[in-house]
Amino acid sequence: MNPYTIFADIVAGRAPSSKVYEDDDVLAFMDIRPFTPGHLLVIPKIPARSLSELDPAVGGKLFQVGQQLAAALRTSEVGADGVNFFLADGVTAGQEVFHVHLHVIPRTPGDGFGLRGRPTTLPRADLDYLAGSIRGALDRNGNNS
Ligand code: 5GP
Repeated sequence: MNPYTIFADIVAGRAPSSKVYEDDDVLAFMDIRPFTPGHLLVIPKIPARSLSELDPAVGGKLFQVGQQLAAALRTSEVGADGVNFFLADGVTAGQEVFHVHLHVIPRTPGDGFGLRGRPTTLPRADLDYLAGSIRGALDRNGNNS
């Protein structure tokens, strides 16, 4: 499938963006339809459609830059009082642009932003069962704990 999206055009300078940070691996810019004022996106420069395609070192860098941006959102005129990180991986998770991106969303009291979710309460046995299944998958994928 074509790995190129509007974000690749932004990286290449073929499409406009309001940049706030750039280095060899990642770019951060203003979201064009912000949930709150100052909403940023941090993306890898090399297109990756999903987390499974993303170089883990670059994934780490997305978070690192996100941390720096979160601090800047608090001390800039955005005046963030809190920050949410959000990353949608896959259609079911709400991903619309298939170039991995970390949303960095500044929060102020009463800004109206929120994630909808209904927490459930599971018995410990169910939690342990799923934990075992996930540990098995990590092992099969060659990830040691
Ligand atoms: P997703 O739903 O895939 O997690 O989020 C995609 C995000 O990309 C949305 O918040 C949307 O506003 C943003 N977006 C889509 N197209 C553009 C664009 O051309 N420029 C910028 N700056 N943001 C975009």
